[in-house]
Amino acid sequence: MSGNKLAQGMILCVSGPSGVGKGTVIEAFMKRREDFSLSISMTTRKPRGQEQDGVEYYFCNTEKFQELIREKEILEFDIYSGEYYGTPVGPIREYVRNQQNVILDITIDGAIQVKKIFPQAVMVFLLPPAISTLRERLLKRSTESESEIETRIKQAEIEISQAKKFEYAILNDRIDDTVARLEAIVLAEESKFDRQASQFAHLFKMIE
Ligand code: 5GP
Repeated sequence: MSGNKLAQGMILCVSGPSGVGKGTVIEAFMKRREDFSLSISMTTRKPRGQEQDGVEYYFCNTEKFQELIREKEILEFDIYSGEYYGTPVGPIREYVRNQQNVILDITIDGAIQVKKIFPQAVMVFLLPPAISTLRERLLKRSTESESEIETRIKQAEIEISQAKKFEYAILNDRIDDTVARLEAIVLAEESKFDRQASQFAHLFKMIE
């Protein structure tokens, strides 16, 4: 299904603990909603597996990241597992200006920062069926060492306790159900009156 072209663009923040399957959900969602672009983040963590600079992330060192923060080139940032992650501001400004939809794969604090800057942003939290599922998924993808996995599991417990700060939560058990719910959230948000006010303007003029 394609989006409502006349509605204003949406900033969709998707958060959830490491291993919950955010990447897979976002990818499947974007296949169904091609009008959403993925915001490519900047990070100081090292590329894993086949990751390429400018595709999954923009990779840089800490000095460069801090310089970008000082130059106000980063919309929001967070430190996760000892590494910086942040959203480059330029593309987001462009999406907003062009009324295009954008999706952000982001930590909880990052999503909260985005919401402060753009109150119309939509925040969705993905929950795992159980903590053991996260550990299994992280072990299976084997992109982190065992100690990194334990750090991420501890972090996950903290993150899950903060899920209530979000507007929406989806239990990510079956991918198809999760994507269907995410689509439903987006459709409901797109149907909000405020998002479509300009589209309805001519109707109000008729009865004024
Ligand atoms: P990973 O190392 O697994 O790719 O990402 C670790 C965490 O950083 C994930 O929770 C992911 O959502 C988050 N993350 C990725 N990009 C950004 C970003 O630009 N800003 C913030 N705040 N978090 C991000």
